[in-house]
Amino acid sequence: MKVLITGITGFVGSHLAEYALEQGAEVFGTIRWRSQTENIEGIRDRLKLVECDLTDAVSVQRLLQQAQPERIFHLAAQSFVPTSWHAPSDTLNTNILSQLNLLEAVRGTATRIQLAGSSEEYGLVHPEEVPIREENPLRPLSPYAVSKVAQDMMGYQYHQSYGIHVVRTRAFNHTGPRRGYVFVESNFARQVARIEKGVQEPVVRVGNLEARRDYTDVRDVVRAYWLALERAQPGEVYNICHGDSWTIQQVLDFFLSQSTVRVEVQVDPDRLRPSDVQILEGSYERFRQATGWEPAIPLEKTFRDLLDYWRERT
Ligand code: NDP
Repeated sequence: MKVLITGITGFVGSHLAEYALEQGAEVFGTIRWRSQTENIEGIRDRLKLVECDLTDAVSVQRLLQQAQPERIFHLAAQSFVPTSWHAPSDTLNTNILSQLNLLEAVRGTATRIQLAGSSEEYGLVHPEEVPIREENPLRPLSPYAVSKVAQDMMGYQYHQSYGIHVVRTRAFNHTGPRRGYVFVESNFARQVARIEKGVQEPVVRVGNLEARRDYTDVRDVVRAYWLALERAQPGEVYNICHGDSWTIQQVLDFFLSQSTVRVEVQVDPDRLRPSDVQILEGSYERFRQATGWEPAIPLEKTFRDLLDYWRERT
């Protein structure tokens, strides 16, 4: 089977590429001329990489002509919430236009396409709405979240209007080895690894520790994406999550408990967002019923693997 992964050089794309190769797929991926390829170095010679900027419709048409994929996993995005405050126009442009180009290019084909939405679409969630189900109102709280709502609605509309086999996923936070250090849990793990090696003073800088996040191992998430295109209902939307949550404080405490050194914790005002989502905890029941998927990797293992990843790189 031919599969195309947009954003293959990213955190999730690299794990999905490994998983797809294990399934025996022929794997195409998009790459830009300045892409960092460290994440896919170990499998690069088994991938078919096509230069493509997804915001360029011509580039996307050529990509599809070349790859002719049976499955597309659309992961490419400006994926970092804080950057979306500083560059809202770029975030909206990249995320919405890229997907528009892709959906236009697959019109009239039998290609199945998964669209990577996010729990950030739910945004403001009231305590009585937890665990969050797919019917919950979307109250996005950042330009990134707005871009993901737009992608989600566009997927629905293209399925309804043109019959494209679209499956929309709303993944909650996922993490594991290769997670960018701009993300909070990876940042803590990296800081701890740097302190252990003596390249950072023994102070961990933190933002909002009260927020609760529903974390899943990235290796469970890419298995879910694969199943989404095999078994889930076209046009439908699905939460992908663990079904429970950790406060950021608990995540920090876990890394500190794994650390070989004593550290001080300091609040850094630069790490606080203009409006932060307080709780994201979901229900994956709809997806479990459609596909049989359940998360299998305990988060303690996920976080230990993440810390070891940074220890190896520091
Ligand atoms: P990363 O930021 O690690 O990767 C983003 C990828 O998108 C990179 O490969 C990047 O390529 C590519 N990309 C960005 N802009 C373009 C463009 N204009 N043309 C072509 N490629 C482009 O993201 P993740 O792997 O963490 O996330 C994957 C997807 O999952 C995203 O859509 C994200 O919003 C979504 N998601 C992630 C969650 C998480 O917890 N990780 C949670 C919920 C949703 P390049 O290397 O050239 O920069």
